Amino acid sequence: MASEAPTCDRCGSERAVIYQPHTGRRLCLKCFEEDIVERVRREIERWGMLRLGKTRLLLALSGGKDSLTLLYVMAQLHDVNRMAVLTVYEGAGGGYRLREIENLKRFAKSYGVDVEVVSFRDYIGAELAELVRAAREAKLGVKPCTICGTLRRRIINWYARLHGFEKVATAHNLDDEVQTLYMNILRGDLDGMLRLHPLAPTLSDKLVPRIKPLRKIYEWETAALAYLKGWRLPVEACPLITEEASLRAHIREVLYRLEWRQPGFLLRVLENFDREMLPLVKQLYGKPRLPLCEKCGEPTSYGRRVCRVCEIIDALREKLSRPLTLAEPRPQR
Ligand SMILES: [Zn+2]
Ligand SMILES: [Zn+2]
Repeated sequence: MASEAPTCDRCGSERAVIYQPHTGRRLCLKCFEEDIVERVRREIERWGMLRLGKTRLLLALSGGKDSLTLLYVMAQLHDVNRMAVLTVYEGAGGGYRLREIENLKRFAKSYGVDVEVVSFRDYIGAELAELVRAAREAKLGVKPCTICGTLRRRIINWYARLHGFEKVATAHNLDDEVQTLYMNILRGDLDGMLRLHPLAPTLSDKLVPRIKPLRKIYEWETAALAYLKGWRLPVEACPLITEEASLRAHIREVLYRLEWRQPGFLLRVLENFDREMLPLVKQLYGKPRLPLCEKCGEPTSYGRRVCRVCEIIDALREKLSRPLTLAEPRPQR
């Protein structure tokens, strides 16, 4: 029982503050932090995600618990002069994202890292709330999260390429990865599934390779770290999220039950995936390059002539008061 043995199982001296079900250990805060940092370092080195201390790294962050954890860990493992933070301001309505961004800026500044903010308006000329309204009027049948995700990914890659970053790191955690893995399996999307592998190739020279250093860290661990470190976190959620009963939400629920019954389940699933899928991932290296969009020249999916971003722009152009166009590349800093 945790209450009867308050000493850390790792260092044997400090008072334990956390129980880690997948290892069965009770840990003090210092050992818990070190455990996370070490596991991230191992994952980075195992797959050659980046050259620690050398690679020019862009951290694409929102400002939530996972974001702060990634920044905190990378500030210890990597050279802070070789990294910058980008956050995309969507403009979903309500002030919560602005508070989150201010919070992220303060946090990053304490590690000497700059935060660059690029908004949907900067890139496309309209905010997400306007795009969603126009999409409803035009009966486009795309969900707010789809528009948001498509544009956000585009802006992150565009910014990273423009400013010469070699890698983009996102703060996806273990729970995110296994949920996405199951979603791809249920949809029969083998390609999408293989893309989750850390050795999956980038299929275009115009795509900056993306890495997920936290992919073996549980979501509860980033939440616990944020709580124990006393990091301030905004509690509001995006006002545009309407359907909680999404496929992802159902999968998340099932996975939590499995994890609760067999601690370490998610970790084993992703470990198996990494090992068993390796031969298939290697076959991806022979695939042709992604086609480029006829309108904007950005990479798009196989079989497409016009990318999804241009498709959204074309569909909504007349529904919005301002003309929708893509931003011109800005000069290198
Ligand atoms: Zn300890
Ligand atoms: Zn395009």
